[in-house]
Amino acid sequence: MPELPEVETVCRGLAPHVIGRLVEAVTCFRPNLRYLLPDLAVLRGQRCRSVKRRAKYLLFEFDDVLLVWHLGMSGCFRVSDSVVLDSDAPPARHEHVRLLFSGDVSLRYIDPRRFGYAGLLPKEGWQQHKWFKSLGPEPLDDAFDGAYLFSRCKGRKIAIKPLLMDAAVVVGVGNIYACESLFRAAIHPGRAANKVSRRRLDLLALTVQQVLGEAIAAGGSTISDFAHVDGNPGYFAHDFRVYGREGEACLQCGSIIRRLLQSGRSTFYCPRCQR
Ligand SMILES: [Zn+2]
Repeated sequence: MPELPEVETVCRGLAPHVIGRLVEAVTCFRPNLRYLLPDLAVLRGQRCRSVKRRAKYLLFEFDDVLLVWHLGMSGCFRVSDSVVLDSDAPPARHEHVRLLFSGDVSLRYIDPRRFGYAGLLPKEGWQQHKWFKSLGPEPLDDAFDGAYLFSRCKGRKIAIKPLLMDAAVVVGVGNIYACESLFRAAIHPGRAANKVSRRRLDLLALTVQQVLGEAIAAGGSTISDFAHVDGNPGYFAHDFRVYGREGEACLQCGSIIRRLLQSGRSTFYCPRCQR
């Protein structure tokens, strides 16, 4: 499943191709993905003003409307400005939506499992839509720091790892990134949130930002069939320090990395380094 770093990578990859361009044609090859597709024909004649990300949603700002897109489990966009397509050309394998922009730029949405979805939202007030209204802050924003985490951990007996993965607390910290961040901050993933000191939460906020920042710099790192805007696989050689290393030696202390189940997800941790 594309995680925050992958969506950020897609966002940065798409932006220079579509910003400033006019939508000339829209083709939907099926009426629905995970949900019914909105009437994308309204985009015709509108110019793309910006491409941004909120949580794992891509936000394409047009003249009159915001096109919001979630990649689901296996969605990706392919952008092409070398092959000239027209709106009638048959779809590529698993291609469901095609937008043709001025300058012969085509944007094709490919999604084998069809768990992606899209919506057209008003440019003002979209944050109040049900997809967005209960989301916590972006992990890479300044508002996400130790003081903020401390306020959310206060009085909470839930373990720190599921709290960190709760999108109402902070968006975009998936399982891999939660494991890696807690390892770097030396916090046991099962520790009760209200038993983690303020000093260690300062460190945790920093390690979350480090881990996500490194993944974005590497172009995303999830294990999936996600693909980049240019069609290349979207995960790169990466150096997870703890994730997926059950039974192997801790890179810091040599202890054996353990795995435990939390909320149905595998957590990897070092029993010696993480307390
Ligand atoms: Zn260790």
